[in-house]
Amino acid sequence: MFIESFKVESPYVKYTDNAIQSVYNYETTELVHENRDGTYQWVVKPKTVKYEFRTDIHVPKLGVMLVGWGGNNGSTLTGGVIANRWGVSWATKDKVQQANYFGSLTQASTIRVNPEDIVFGGWDISDMNLADAMARAKVFDIDLQKQLRPYMESMVPLPGIYDPDFIAANQGERANNVIKGTKKEQVQQIIKDIREFKEKNKVDKVVVLWTANTERYSNVVVGLNDTMENLLASFEKNESEISPSTLYAIACVFEDVPFINGSPQNTFVPGLIDLAIQRNCLIGGDDFKSGQTKMKSVLVDFLVGAGIKPTSIVSYNHLGNNDGMNLSAPQTFRSKEISKSNVVDDMVSSNGILYQPGEHPDHVVVIKYVPYVGDSKRAMDEYTSEIFMGGKNTIVLHNTCEDSLLAAPIILDLVLLAELSTRIQLKAEGEGKFHSLHPVATILSYLTKAPLVPPGTPVVNALSKQRAMLENILRACIGLSPENNMILEYK
Ligand code: NAD
Repeated sequence: MFIESFKVESPYVKYTDNAIQSVYNYETTELVHENRDGTYQWVVKPKTVKYEFRTDIHVPKLGVMLVGWGGNNGSTLTGGVIANRWGVSWATKDKVQQANYFGSLTQASTIRVNPEDIVFGGWDISDMNLADAMARAKVFDIDLQKQLRPYMESMVPLPGIYDPDFIAANQGERANNVIKGTKKEQVQQIIKDIREFKEKNKVDKVVVLWTANTERYSNVVVGLNDTMENLLASFEKNESEISPSTLYAIACVFEDVPFINGSPQNTFVPGLIDLAIQRNCLIGGDDFKSGQTKMKSVLVDFLVGAGIKPTSIVSYNHLGNNDGMNLSAPQTFRSKEISKSNVVDDMVSSNGILYQPGEHPDHVVVIKYVPYVGDSKRAMDEYTSEIFMGGKNTIVLHNTCEDSLLAAPIILDLVLLAELSTRIQLKAEGEGKFHSLHPVATILSYLTKAPLVPPGTPVVNALSKQRAMLENILRACIGLSPENNMILEYK
């Protein structure tokens, strides 16, 4: 069913020329510890809060600027959308293959938003045009590459902000397209680039997404980048510890352009989060959740939820693309190790019967660079769990797949959902004015490995819960209650 032919008829929804307005009763429970007749006990109390939502229905002409446009993900996404736009088909050794959007929640699933009008652009520290970048990536079949080449030859990335201290030394050879100057001048250039891109392509809105190489973690230091004021002062002083990704993010927040981080590093240092909150500009991240982690966030949720106790989780990867080469340096690998490691924490701590406070499964992540396998990443996982009466259960997974073909549809979902969420306004009963969703976009958690959340907010990693949150918020925007799966009609 296409969105254009879908309308909700309900006293809780009103369609106007500009917006969909809905009223939504948010039903939750409250757990309180109360003194009843001299003894304390836990009491669960249902709680209903009335919300109003207002969603702007004007779908803007969207520009997407990718940092790392000429990389495997950037060239694969750009080529993939062009192939879909023009209905390209190509011969493989098995069959004639049609372009599709498999792997995208918004395109190949139940929500349909049109990505074919998106104008792509962006930056790369390598000046290679997108057609050559696609060939360098070795992701698409050769017959498809030949058909896409004429569309992509004239696409050339803008110079990027390069700081060899933040990515692996082995990336130095690529860096022939860089913005010179101080950090302040570099940010000013990014702002100029965004404005010119908007103007030239006549787009209404721009979303920027980092799909450039994984950086090392930035040190978070009091006085340097811990608050908005300190971060901005450090940036004025050209402090060396502010990473390129943080500089792009600063430029975007200044321009009120949503910024999404598809890599694991801590682009969003506390001062940057503070800045985005102060200016109410959407930020989202971190690290695309494409393969191994997606499986982990399903499997561990299932195991712990079933009362089975995972005690050891070991994840090996080997890959041979440029991302793999960059991750072969210890500092960049460490960023990936952190984002891949925290994903089981909340699921483990959700079951106090299986795990004592502070108890954890052993969780190890290994990544090795094997050039021969190119973009075709191998992921091998071993999950060992304790079952009934001291028994042991071992599950082994082996996954082989082109990494960029998993990431590209996720990038599309991220930019479309980020744009859509900037059009949603809400207010709870008692709140005077409508406000936007919190600028730290937890609604994107389904798509990111280490979901960025506002300070003090719990992180939810279980994939089914992340998906339910996204779907149910979108349902609330059209006045529908959450999908409850009770199927009472048949009971
Ligand atoms: P890639 O190496 O092919 O592409 C990265 C591009 O970024 C390169 O063209 C490089 O020249 C450019 N670049 C590096 N630093 C830059 C900067 N400061 N400014 C502008 N451009 C810069 O890598 P990829 O396979 O496309 O992956 C991109 C990122 O996505 C990596 O960090 C990777 O860890 C992350 N990621 C990928 C997946 C996946 O499934 N493919 C999943 C999760 C995360």
